[in-house]
Amino acid sequence: MKTSVTIALAGNPNAGKTTLFNRLTGARRHVGNYPGVTVEKKEGIFTHNNQDIRVTDLPGTYSLTAYSVEELVAREFIVNEQPDVVVDIVDASNLERNLYLGCQFLELGVPMVIALNMVDVAESRGIEINTEKLAALLGVPVVPIIARSGKGIDELFDVVLKTAEQEKPTQPVLLRYGSDLDQTIRKMLPLIQENKLLTEQYPARWIALKFLEDDEQILEKARQKNAEVTQLLLQLCETVTAHLQQTMDVYPEAVIADHRYGYIKSILHQGVITEKFVGDRLYTSDKIDKIVTHRVLGPVIMAAILYALYTFTFTYSTTLVDSLASFFAVISNTIDGLLPDGPLKSMIISGAIDGVGGVLGFVPIIMFMFFGIAVLEDSGYLARVAFMMDRIFHFFGLHGSSVMPFIVSGGIAGGCAVPGVMATRTLRSPKERIATLLTVPFMNCGAKLPVLTLLIGAFFSAHQARYMFLSTVAAWLVALISAKFLRITVLRGESTPFVMELPPYRFPTIRGLVIHTWERTWQYIKKAGTVILGISILLWAMMTYPGLPEVQTVQFEQQRQEILASSNQEQGAEATGSIDLTEEQNSALGILNNQEAQAALRNSFAGRIGIALESVSRFAGFDWRTNIALVGGFAAKEVIVSTLGTAYSLGDVDPNNSLSLKDRLSADPNWNPVVALAVLAFIMFYAPCFVTVVCIAREAGSWKWAFFSMGFNTIFAFIMAIAIYQIGMALGLGG
Ligand code: GDP
Ligand code: MG
Repeated sequence: MKTSVTIALAGNPNAGKTTLFNRLTGARRHVGNYPGVTVEKKEGIFTHNNQDIRVTDLPGTYSLTAYSVEELVAREFIVNEQPDVVVDIVDASNLERNLYLGCQFLELGVPMVIALNMVDVAESRGIEINTEKLAALLGVPVVPIIARSGKGIDELFDVVLKTAEQEKPTQPVLLRYGSDLDQTIRKMLPLIQENKLLTEQYPARWIALKFLEDDEQILEKARQKNAEVTQLLLQLCETVTAHLQQTMDVYPEAVIADHRYGYIKSILHQGVITEKFVGDRLYTSDKIDKIVTHRVLGPVIMAAILYALYTFTFTYSTTLVDSLASFFAVISNTIDGLLPDGPLKSMIISGAIDGVGGVLGFVPIIMFMFFGIAVLEDSGYLARVAFMMDRIFHFFGLHGSSVMPFIVSGGIAGGCAVPGVMATRTLRSPKERIATLLTVPFMNCGAKLPVLTLLIGAFFSAHQARYMFLSTVAAWLVALISAKFLRITVLRGESTPFVMELPPYRFPTIRGLVIHTWERTWQYIKKAGTVILGISILLWAMMTYPGLPEVQTVQFEQQRQEILASSNQEQGAEATGSIDLTEEQNSALGILNNQEAQAALRNSFAGRIGIALESVSRFAGFDWRTNIALVGGFAAKEVIVSTLGTAYSLGDVDPNNSLSLKDRLSADPNWNPVVALAVLAFIMFYAPCFVTVVCIAREAGSWKWAFFSMGFNTIFAFIMAIAIYQIGMALGLGG
């Protein structure tokens, strides 16, 4: 028996070290400071089985790097004082995170016992831990305790004393840190060992790790010992750091941390933890999951649920959409009658009402869709979708956690790429993250929904729900294939393993559903009232000015007079003042007015841009008016509908007109189902809107990726559109 055994209590802050320390030492303790720093040092002595034990309560730390004074103090104490046993206090209710520190003790090769504290808390949360299995996998003793009540403490110190008596030194555990780092470590080891660089104090491998982690304290010590070898080692580190930076945009520290967590996860996933909630809620959830996430049944159920969502949304919202459309038509007509002709009337009707009305008209669809999504989300089903999609995602070089950004961006239709891009923050691997944020804008966000609905309603009205569903499938396919493409070209690299929680199923509450639906719908309405209103008026101005040159206005006026004059002649001398025009005259006037408005639009700023683009866009069947809308859509996709509305209503003259844009498009000779499909594809896949682009730049940390996404998407979308148009027309589907 040794005269006195020394132990150190280590652990994360709040793991219960002080509680244990106080229980052990009672009044027999001494509080001072560690030499040179203000960190408190508590020491005490107690007896267990007649053996004196000296115990030191180390400062709480999450890691053993040299980033904070606490970490440094804890590490120095263990290395310099060499306690017989380190007791690592681990919070059982937060095992994965707490084991990170223990993992580093293992790498350091110190004799250790894990005190699995707070098992009462873990139990109340339904977490059950198989301590024997954990001990076997980690290779160190694990003793469950409750520091607050003292339960398990005797057993803990029986084990501690047994460990202290062991003669053979503890071997450091070897972890892998990925092929790049492992290779470098293999080159560093002989240099360290042959020159005995700090090897009396630390294991050689651990020194190599500290060099890679850029640990100032160890580097300084090494320099003092042997500056030359230190320099050689640093060169090796620099080479691999540069390589990791270039290939994965990460630092070695991050790779090392990832692998430590990977080691812990792989241990915990081998049946060490079972989470079981009290009551039968999770039990039922488990049973549901057996079916719902089944390999074969799962995807079938998922497809059926999503298809039901589309049917629900598009069947039940039509009446509301139609009545809103007539409502805006009534307002237009009323203002038309009240205001005198002129720029003000034109601005209010063609700019504001057609623009904002076009967007607001879709509120019912958006609302129904959001309601359906809220049901899926609140019930817990959406997490299962992510879980099932992970298998597919891995194949395409993405991660299970990429599913949420995709869904937020409109993966089920109706979302927004801006929060979607921000949601990629949960992804740890930089490459998977960039691949995700570059591809989420392909989803059918809430702003694209109105355009899709408009075009599908105008040209494929017989199968609206089916086409919407197909467009969502197409969005996913394009996003995943592009992700794969990026991951085998510019973003090549390994995929990280998937971990995601499956919360228990819950019955959604009506209150929750209403709040979720309304929050999202209101955001959409607010945008229509502000940003969209501004852009609509700006685009209206660009489409109205500078107007027709003087000469042409005079010409049109002359022609108009001629038509009126012809009526006077026919009706003889008695026809003076107000006259009833014949049907032919009316239609001749209509055509003339239409031609004038068209000529004015062509001459406008926006018209000139649209016409200039026509030389390219005609390959995809887009006319210049569509081009105007597509350019406007870069500011915000919502604007596409309103701009099309303005472009087509400017050329419209029937006095009793209340034709909706949908009817105008399907009647227009420039449009047919093939053109509509080409435009649809282009809108779904071309450059993300301006706000998203800014967001991508911010999240990816460089404008490079933002410009890449604009260019890549637009070129891709245009090729798709051309292919659809050319093939469709060649097959004679243009009608
Ligand atoms: P330290 O930061 O590691 O020193 O942690 P403390 O000893 O200060 O403990 C943090 C908190 O956890 C305190 O409120 C303790 O009362 C509580 N605590 C410690 N051990 C246990 C335990 O086994 N069970 C429960 N329920 N609470 C504990
Ligand atoms: Mg404490």
